[in-house]
Amino acid sequence: MNRSEQLLALATDTIWDIIVIGGGATGLGTALDASLRDYKTLLIESHDFAKGTSSRSTKLVHGGVRYLQQGNIKLVREALRERGYLLKNAPHLTSVQTFIVPVFSWWEKIFFGIGLKVYDLLSGKLSLGDTQILSKKETLAHLPSINSNKLVGGILYFDGQFDDSHLAIELAATAIKKGATVINYFKATGFIKTNEKITAVECLDILSEKKYILKTKVVVNATGVFTNAIVKMDNQFEHDLVSPSQGIHLVIDAKFFPGRDAMMIPKTDDGRVLFAVPWHDKVVLGTTDTPIVEISFEPKPLEEEIEFIIKHINRYCTTLITRSDINAVYVGLRPLVKQKTHISSALISREHHLSVSPSGLITITGGKWTTYRKMAADAVDNAAFIGKLNKEKCKTAYTQIGDELEKENRFQEILKEDASLAEKIHSNYSFTKAQIVYALKYEMAICLEDILSRRIRLLFLDAKLAIKLAPMVASIMASYLQKDKNWEAAEVAKFTQLAEQYILK
Ligand SMILES: Cc1cc2nc3c(=O)[nH]c(=O)nc-3n(C[C@H](O)[C@H](O)[C@H](O)COP(=O)(O)OP(=O)(O)OC[C@H]3O[C@@H](n4cnc5c(N)ncnc54)[C@H](O)[C@@H]3O)c2cc1C
Repeated sequence: MNRSEQLLALATDTIWDIIVIGGGATGLGTALDASLRDYKTLLIESHDFAKGTSSRSTKLVHGGVRYLQQGNIKLVREALRERGYLLKNAPHLTSVQTFIVPVFSWWEKIFFGIGLKVYDLLSGKLSLGDTQILSKKETLAHLPSINSNKLVGGILYFDGQFDDSHLAIELAATAIKKGATVINYFKATGFIKTNEKITAVECLDILSEKKYILKTKVVVNATGVFTNAIVKMDNQFEHDLVSPSQGIHLVIDAKFFPGRDAMMIPKTDDGRVLFAVPWHDKVVLGTTDTPIVEISFEPKPLEEEIEFIIKHINRYCTTLITRSDINAVYVGLRPLVKQKTHISSALISREHHLSVSPSGLITITGGKWTTYRKMAADAVDNAAFIGKLNKEKCKTAYTQIGDELEKENRFQEILKEDASLAEKIHSNYSFTKAQIVYALKYEMAICLEDILSRRIRLLFLDAKLAIKLAPMVASIMASYLQKDKNWEAAEVAKFTQLAEQYILK
């Protein structure tokens, strides 16, 4: 994955079959699907891959127990099927995770026990393991930090877990391998129409500031919470399709929540579920659901959201956490499909939504990371129809994502050239200096933030340490990229300013 090589594909006067706008889960899945059907595919992302919501999830590959509570069997069944495909197609990027629901009455034990048995049954042949009813003693063995007062027992069930931005980057790499052109820091700025149909996309290369006009048969808008802007770029009078809702996560040390099991709190004060999930030797707590008006690439947590999570976790655990125990706070925006009537954002369906504008712009939004493959398949089916492309079947259900062996060989090559890169960037973390070089060479990382946020997840795991190590990481980058000290200083300053927002004051 090399940006300069990808840019070469734009040098000719190609007419693309499909241009995908947006390099999050949905867009990258769409580019992979389209390239597997042999459509001439270009994906453009205005920032880094997964800079938006797709690096800010709760890291669950799941059917959504909450949607079962809401009675949305169709959505749960579909997501469980997608969970199964993803775990099979990307085993090195996903894992099976046990979840425990602590229960405090016999009635809860029966209710959640039956519900989670149904949840497993709905996954059919793609089941990850039987739901089990646990005694109080067994529950405490799984969740040693749980408050045993009034505890009756627990329900153990299985779901999936993943690293969201790593999956995004491997989707990009796989799409390129299958023939797609995929470019980050490349923004869609306008549409050109012929007889009122979109025939080209105006773009700006953010790094070189060069403008492009790229011809295409069809455009897929996969820009998540930024959907409305693209829709208005097509038709300024169009109504908003998406209304964003914010969710925050707090990341704590595993000592506060020891063990390998995750916990699901089935009913928070606002009627949602809350998770504590082990991730990269830390624990992610989340999330919230707060409708917001202003969208941003770096959304900020609200005080009440922080207090909400701390209050709920402390209600369930014996080792109480305070603000100073939080290693990082990160925030994501859900691209929820705008409702005609006012209902709570927690009740808005997580089903995806596809629309085609009179000019032929296909917009795909909503959904979840887990269902990105199905969303992509629907988008490409429609794109093929609108773009009058040869009808080809979707092939992603059984396509492997990433190539572990190739990755390993590349790491060996990097270490052969410089064995000192095997050194860890910090003794508390497994990340090595070789990973920085790998990200620059093979994963299209451009700036310090790309490395510390989405290639190495240090910003999300330990924001203060990420700031501390930024000069060292920038210096390794500078020596590989042959940049000077001014570049290093500017990168460190830019990253530090951003990372400060991930620290709770
Ligand atoms: C708090 C939270 C927790 C979640 N947890 C889970 C979970 O555990 N499991 C799960 O399955 N799902 C989860 N989700 C849902 C999931 O993360 C999202 O559904 C998914 O990431 C959305 O991906 P997307 O590609 O549609 O949007 P995004 O990831 O936001 O991607 C859109 C991209 O479009 C780009 N873009 C915007 N404008 C332009 C332009 N003009 N030109 C080029 N590019 C542009 C942006 O830079 C962005 O990268 C969660 C969501 C939230 C908010």
